[in-house]
Amino acid sequence: MAQGSGVALRAAGDALMDAIDLALYDACHEEGCPICRLRLAGERRYLLRLLSEFVNDAFVRERYIASLGFCPQHARQLQALEQDRWGDGLGNAILCEDLLTRMLKALHQHRETWTHCSAPRGWRPRRSRIALPHALTPRSLCRVCELGETLVARNSERLVRAAAEAGELWEAYADSTGLCWDHLRQALEYVSSDNSLAAVRLLDQSINRLQALTAALDSYVESHDYHHQGEVLSAEVRASWLHAVAWLAGEEL
Ligand SMILES: [Zn+2]
Ligand SMILES: [Zn+2]
Repeated sequence: MAQGSGVALRAAGDALMDAIDLALYDACHEEGCPICRLRLAGERRYLLRLLSEFVNDAFVRERYIASLGFCPQHARQLQALEQDRWGDGLGNAILCEDLLTRMLKALHQHRETWTHCSAPRGWRPRRSRIALPHALTPRSLCRVCELGETLVARNSERLVRAAAEAGELWEAYADSTGLCWDHLRQALEYVSSDNSLAAVRLLDQSINRLQALTAALDSYVESHDYHHQGEVLSAEVRASWLHAVAWLAGEEL
């Protein structure tokens, strides 16, 4: 991987590469799908800033309430981050206390509605048609997921342009682990019909990588046969099943 040239490019390159390019360039030198890496890093940064600065921010809080907290994955991540970083749960407690108080109030209201609801005699029992109150209905997506999707869109679009330009950013990508399946699919959606070369370059990179990966997987499976017992496996073969799962499911937290 051409990391040395990146230093020169950084030194000379503010005019050539902006912050998005540099982040993408750096992510290409890490293990795993660069678009996943940037999404995970951006989401983690958001959650850490939330805990250190924005727990009491009115706008952030309003958005948290509107989505009834975060999705299960990001709620768990927020909990783990605070536990790991501060060994405490004050930020989580403040956010949850506010949200749960509102939900509790709404549950009381909902209970009242049910208390005064009685079907006329002779009606067949049916499933509930009583809508949940406004305060118990999410009005927006998890903010962290939304941010992550914005980062994926922005970086995928940039990568497609890099594929067309075939400059230093593309060279770094071409030499990287490459995109996971979901992000390859999304990147191809950003290719316009007058830019087919970008699609061909993206596909060639993934095809080459998958050919190597399937060969390594084949060796890994074969190594479990008793004829191959005791054979020393290369690092690439040993990790092939993990890389295959990452290609299908994306990088993990
Ligand atoms: Zn990915
Ligand atoms: Zn989420």
